[in-house]
Amino acid sequence: MLDYTLKRSKRRKTVAIKVAQQQLTVYAPHFVPLGDIESWLVSKKDWVQAQIAKQTSQAQMQQLPLETGVINLFNQPLAIKLNKGKSSHWQQNERSSELSLSVSSRVKNTESKYLSLLEDFLHHKLESYLEMRIHDYCLKMQEALPEQLKVQHYKRRWGSCNQRRELTFNLHLACAPTWVIDYVIVHELAHLKYMNHSSVFWQRVSRFYPDYKKASQWLKVNGSQLRWQ
Ligand SMILES: [Zn+2]
Repeated sequence: MLDYTLKRSKRRKTVAIKVAQQQLTVYAPHFVPLGDIESWLVSKKDWVQAQIAKQTSQAQMQQLPLETGVINLFNQPLAIKLNKGKSSHWQQNERSSELSLSVSSRVKNTESKYLSLLEDFLHHKLESYLEMRIHDYCLKMQEALPEQLKVQHYKRRWGSCNQRRELTFNLHLACAPTWVIDYVIVHELAHLKYMNHSSVFWQRVSRFYPDYKKASQWLKVNGSQLRWQ
């Protein structure tokens, strides 16, 4: 049986359920017997569990990297070091797996400057990786290079492709493993030929990225942890 809080009310005419903060609440009129409520709940069990799972994964969203002091770049942790200096810039020390963010002492809003430097760093890393891989995959797929490549914040999607052959990728992919990024690349490049998710589209994806189901599953399970805003 599911754990729940029961709230009875005189005015209520029907039974209703709500899942909030991973907790289940049942609202019921006074006249409905407990046994009836519980057997009705059994029939709603799958839905309730799906809601709780969804809210749990949202709650696990990545904490602000500046608070934890760690950022994942291509799924590898990088320690973040914050400094004040003469100018604002980022610098990656590949040997010590450290990213140093320096903010000029003249900057007023230091917090937001650190965050914009961090995003600038991720943007730069992801863009270089995308440029290289898009080039490789276009050769393999015998596809002309896209007209434009953009990296930006997306809330709910990992990439997009339009009729003008402009490809856009979510900045937060920079935190994902490269084999997952490759899947998003092949997915978007396949859209240059098929602007839909038809079976011929998926055939093209699977031809150039046979493990596409595994990668798309990885994004479903871990995707929310890649974001921090
Ligand atoms: Zn698509």
